[in-house]
Formats: sequence, structure tokens, C-alpha cells
Amino acid sequence: MKIASGLKCHNCGAPLSLKAGEVIITCDYCGTDFNVASDKKFFLEHSIIPSRLDDMAVNEVVKSWMSTGALKPSNFYKASRIEDQSLVFLPFYVVHLNVTTTYSGMFTRTGGRDPRNGVLHKEYYWKVLGRRGSKFPTREYEIPLSGKEDFNLSRIPPNSKYLNAEFDEKDAEDIARGEAADNQKFMLSSQINEFDSIVNSFEVEDIEFVHAPIWKVDYNYNNAMYQMLICGSTGEVIRGDIPPPDHSVGGFFSDLRKALIGR
Ligand SMILES: [Zn+2]
Repeated sequence: MKIASGLKCHNCGAPLSLKAGEVIITCDYCGTDFNVASDKKFFLEHSIIPSRLDDMAVNEVVKSWMSTGALKPSNFYKASRIEDQSLVFLPFYVVHLNVTTTYSGMFTRTGGRDPRNGVLHKEYYWKVLGRRGSKFPTREYEIPLSGKEDFNLSRIPPNSKYLNAEFDEKDAEDIARGEAADNQKFMLSSQINEFDSIVNSFEVEDIEFVHAPIWKVDYNYNNAMYQMLICGSTGEVIRGDIPPPDHSVGGFFSDLRKALIGR
């Protein structure tokens, strides 16, 4: 939904169109970024990773992914129909931070009570997708930062979508701290299962803002819809739904045939 805001770009004077919930918005005309919440220019370094995959290349990725690998139906590619494929530029914050966790507790899993304590230090480049309530698998996605360039509107092809961030870098930093702290605790959980104390100290080195290209492919298989997410820069499949095994008679026999005679 669009909000008639009357907001104008401070740089070029063009009207800014923002949707509900968006906080960091980019002028469609000159590419200047604004923080709408504070009515200020956004000063974080902003990069974009261009997409190197066109529609044809995306089709090739889909074909090869469906035709190889375990646990996939034998007729997967042939029986699937792509209903929609679209390129979306998603906003990510990459928070470079050091976390030092001072901990003490007990290891009891082997039956005894074994006291443990120490310090766990780790450096993170923690990714935070700047959208609320998204199911995007951020942890599984390796942002191809080596392909990044200074932000430039010309890198966004027509017919692709560009999403603004719904929170600013301060919120992103809070999210990164919380998630990195959870990760520290998770790493310690192999040594300690009863914590007495766990104290984190954070040192944020830097935060960058990058728009990364994701191809979203919606496909139909056996009258059900599924989705694949593909990195537009590397062509890597970030996540793909695999339909459940086909228990129909035809499916059973074709799977059996493949297992028995290998074709
Ligand atoms: Zn502008």
C-alpha cells in the first residue's frame, strides 16, 4: 500500500514514495537515501550487488537444481511449471562486531557436576535483513560481498523489485547483538548445560548497508505451489522447496525403476 506522503527528496526535489513501515528509503530519481523516521539523510555506506543472472540463466539454474541431488522426484523438472520468477533487491545490514562472552556454569550431561568457566571471543559479520516479519533464510544466505559496488540506481533492471528497509542501522545493530549473543550461548552449550552467569560485551566496528539480488521462483508441481530462492550474483540456490515423495502408483513405479535399473 502506498502512502501519499508529500515527502520530497532533499537532494533533487522529486516526490518520495514510501510504503507503510518503510524507514530507509531511496529516491527513485537520484538514488539518495533518507531516514524517514529522523527526516535525515542516511549516511551509512550503501552498496548494491548487481544481478548477473537473466531470465534464461535462472531457468538453467532451476533445471540443473531439479535434475540433480538426492530426495527429488524423478520427474521433477519435466513435471514442474514455473508460474512466476522475479528479481528482488533485498536490503541487508552487515554488522561487523566483536563479542566477548564471560561465562560460568556446570556441565552435567555425563552425570556429574563439572564446573566450567571461561571467555569466548568471536568476531562476526552478522547479517540482518532490513525487513520485519520476513521468512527469508538469512542465516543460510552468504551475501556475495565481493561483487558489491557503490549504490547506483542503474544497477536495478526494469521489472525488478527494490525493497526499502523497515528499520534503521541502530535497530539493525540491536538485532545483531541479540542474535550474536544467542549464537555465543549456542556454541557454549556443548560444554555447559547449566549456566550460572553469562555476560556479553560488544564492540561494533562497522555497519554497512547493501542491496542484494535474489531471484524468487514460484513453481507448480502436482498442482501445488513451491518456491526457490536463487542468489542473483552467483546463481547459487539459497533454498528450494522439494515436493514430498509421490506415493501414487505411477510415481512409486518410476522411482522403483530408477532405483533398480538406474534410469
Ligand atoms: Zn532525489
